[in-house]
Amino acid sequence: MRDFSTYLLDLDGVVYRGQELLPGARELVTWLDSTGRQTLFLSNNSFATPEEVAAKLAGLGIPSPDGRVFTAGWAAALAISEQFPGGRVFVLAVPSMEALAVRVGLRPVAMEEPEQPVPDAVLVGLDRGLTYARLRRAMRAILAGAAFYTVNRDPRLPVEDGFEPGTGSIAAALEWSTARTAEMIGKPAPGIVRQALRLAGAAPERALMVGDGLELDVVAGRRAGVATALVLTGLTSAEEAAKATGERAPEFIFPDLPALLAAARAAADTALRDA
Ligand SMILES: [Mg+2]
Repeated sequence: MRDFSTYLLDLDGVVYRGQELLPGARELVTWLDSTGRQTLFLSNNSFATPEEVAAKLAGLGIPSPDGRVFTAGWAAALAISEQFPGGRVFVLAVPSMEALAVRVGLRPVAMEEPEQPVPDAVLVGLDRGLTYARLRRAMRAILAGAAFYTVNRDPRLPVEDGFEPGTGSIAAALEWSTARTAEMIGKPAPGIVRQALRLAGAAPERALMVGDGLELDVVAGRRAGVATALVLTGLTSAEEAAKATGERAPEFIFPDLPALLAAARAAADTALRDA
């Protein structure tokens, strides 16, 4: 492996699995911190805030996750604020997404406000309070020319007693009714990775994306121009990893984080010796 100065860590299947911390996660972050390397935790999630994700990581014993968690929802809000600084956005998502929009200088449009003027953008996340009226409002805004973003395209979400409809199923309803295609920001789109690098002031060529999914993490990383490492503690088996080609093929494959940490240490030693 090469030596990298920024590590972008996917969460589920890399740092933890459900409520359980995966072996080597704490040791990897501790080593990255102690050697002055930068760590960012990337969540593709469209309903938890960065603070909620950081609280979960802290509870699992990850050192100081506050301020180092970046979510697809936040990336989407940033992308909209870049295109429409201070713009008006209709947010079809959980209320915390509206708070994120406000944080980046956007103005969420409330249902009580008149439909005109048309908002600059519609942002779709996991709207657990979805109603026909909210769907109609979003559809009309998109038909009237609002930019159309979705945090991700998850068809459904696994929950304790089965599945529930994901963000992608809400975006699909609007795509069907408007004949427009939503711009996706979360993985496998490179938007979340690019926004995270920009926020961290990190150079893509010095960054490593670590994930457990070929379609999500590896594709997003490669499209954003960063090196990718796959760990086999989540979605992908060793056979699937070995067979992956094109933009699904990771640069590096490790059975788990302890193996990745050993390789990162060796690469750092080599870089130090060559310097
Ligand atoms: Mg994952």
